[in-house]
Amino acid sequence: MSVAGQKLNLKKDDIVEVISGREQGKKGKVLALFPGEGRVTVEKLNMCKRHMKSDGKSRQAGILEKEGSIHISNVLIVCDKCGKGVRIKRKKLEDGKRVRICQKCGEVIDKV
Ligand SMILES: [Zn+2]
Repeated sequence: MSVAGQKLNLKKDDIVEVISGREQGKKGKVLALFPGEGRVTVEKLNMCKRHMKSDGKSRQAGILEKEGSIHISNVLIVCDKCGKGVRIKRKKLEDGKRVRICQKCGEVIDKV
Protein backbone atom coordinates (compact mmCIF):
# COMPACT_ATOMS: atom_id res chain seq x y z
CA MET A 1 0.00 0.00 0.00
CA SER A 2 1.34 3.42 -0.78
CA VAL A 3 0.04 6.88 -0.13
CA ALA A 4 1.43 9.56 -2.42
CA GLY A 5 4.73 7.75 -2.53
CA GLN A 6 4.66 7.12 1.17
CA LYS A 7 4.41 3.54 2.33
CA LEU A 8 1.88 2.83 4.99
CA ASN A 9 3.99 0.74 7.29
CA LEU A 10 1.58 0.72 10.16
CA LYS A 11 -1.02 -1.76 11.23
CA LYS A 12 -3.85 -1.67 13.70
CA ASP A 13 -2.65 -2.35 17.27
CA ASP A 14 0.91 -1.22 16.52
CA ILE A 15 2.47 0.88 19.26
CA VAL A 16 3.64 4.18 17.84
CA GLU A 17 5.41 7.26 19.12
CA VAL A 18 4.38 10.73 18.02
CA ILE A 19 7.37 12.66 16.71
CA SER A 20 5.90 16.09 16.14
CA GLY A 21 3.00 18.28 17.13
CA ARG A 22 1.46 18.77 20.52
CA GLU A 23 1.54 15.06 21.39
CA GLN A 24 5.24 14.75 20.61
CA GLY A 25 6.99 12.01 22.58
CA LYS A 26 3.79 10.25 23.57
CA LYS A 27 3.12 6.65 22.74
CA GLY A 28 -0.06 4.80 22.03
CA LYS A 29 -1.77 2.02 20.20
CA VAL A 30 -3.02 2.45 16.66
CA LEU A 31 -6.80 2.26 16.69
CA ALA A 32 -7.56 2.79 13.04
CA LEU A 33 -5.85 3.47 9.74
CA PHE A 34 -7.04 5.77 7.00
CA PRO A 35 -4.79 4.80 4.09
CA GLY A 36 -6.55 7.13 1.66
CA GLU A 37 -5.63 10.13 3.75
CA GLY A 38 -2.38 8.74 5.12
CA ARG A 39 -3.64 9.21 8.65
CA VAL A 40 -4.09 7.11 11.76
CA THR A 41 -5.88 7.43 15.07
CA VAL A 42 -3.93 6.52 18.18
CA GLU A 43 -5.51 5.56 21.48
CA LYS A 44 -5.87 8.53 23.86
CA LEU A 45 -3.77 10.80 21.66
CA ASN A 46 -4.73 13.99 19.86
CA MET A 47 -8.06 14.02 21.65
CA CYS A 48 -10.59 16.38 20.15
CA LYS A 49 -13.66 17.71 21.82
CA ARG A 50 -16.80 17.47 19.81
CA HIS A 51 -19.95 19.20 20.80
CA MET A 52 -22.86 16.87 20.49
CA LYS A 53 -26.38 18.06 20.09
CA SER A 54 -29.12 16.09 21.70
CA ASP A 55 -31.21 14.21 19.20
CA GLY A 56 -34.08 14.36 21.64
CA LYS A 57 -34.09 10.61 22.20
CA SER A 58 -31.15 8.46 23.15
CA ARG A 59 -28.36 10.98 22.90
CA GLN A 60 -27.61 13.59 25.51
CA ALA A 61 -26.20 16.95 24.55
CA GLY A 62 -22.67 17.38 25.72
CA ILE A 63 -19.03 17.23 24.85
CA LEU A 64 -17.61 14.05 23.49
CA GLU A 65 -13.90 13.41 23.48
CA LYS A 66 -12.63 11.49 20.54
CA GLU A 67 -9.29 10.62 19.05
CA GLY A 68 -8.37 12.93 16.20
CA SER A 69 -6.36 11.53 13.35
CA ILE A 70 -2.61 12.08 13.09
CA HIS A 71 -0.69 12.11 9.83
CA ILE A 72 1.48 9.02 9.46
CA SER A 73 4.55 11.17 8.86
CA ASN A 74 4.17 12.33 12.47
CA VAL A 75 4.35 8.88 14.02
CA LEU A 76 6.96 6.17 14.18
CA ILE A 77 6.49 2.57 15.17
CA VAL A 78 8.01 1.74 18.55
CA CYS A 79 10.73 -0.90 18.68
CA ASP A 80 10.57 -2.89 21.94
CA LYS A 81 14.33 -3.18 22.09
CA CYS A 82 15.11 0.48 21.37
CA GLY A 83 12.18 1.58 23.53
CA LYS A 84 11.25 4.37 21.16
CA GLY A 85 9.92 5.23 17.75
CA VAL A 86 12.14 4.01 14.94
CA ARG A 87 12.21 3.83 11.20
CA ILE A 88 11.68 0.39 9.84
CA LYS A 89 12.69 -1.65 6.88
CA ARG A 90 11.17 -4.72 5.41
CA LYS A 91 12.71 -8.12 5.27
CA LYS A 92 11.66 -11.34 3.67
CA LEU A 93 12.08 -14.38 5.86
CA GLU A 94 13.16 -17.78 4.64
CA ASP A 95 9.59 -19.02 4.71
CA GLY A 96 8.53 -16.14 2.46
CA LYS A 97 6.85 -14.09 5.17
CA ARG A 98 7.52 -10.37 5.07
CA VAL A 99 8.25 -8.72 8.36
CA ARG A 100 9.08 -5.22 9.50
CA ILE A 101 12.36 -4.81 11.27
CA CYS A 102 13.92 -1.94 13.19
CA GLN A 103 16.38 0.02 11.07
CA LYS A 104 18.44 0.70 14.15
CA CYS A 105 18.87 -2.63 15.96
CA GLY A 106 17.41 -5.11 13.48
CA GLU A 107 14.77 -6.32 15.91
CA VAL A 108 11.73 -7.88 14.23
CA ILE A 109 8.71 -5.69 14.94
CA ASP A 110 6.08 -8.11 13.68
CA LYS A 111 5.53 -11.00 16.02
CA VAL A 112 5.48 -14.08 13.84
ZN1 LIG B 1 15.27 -1.31 17.58
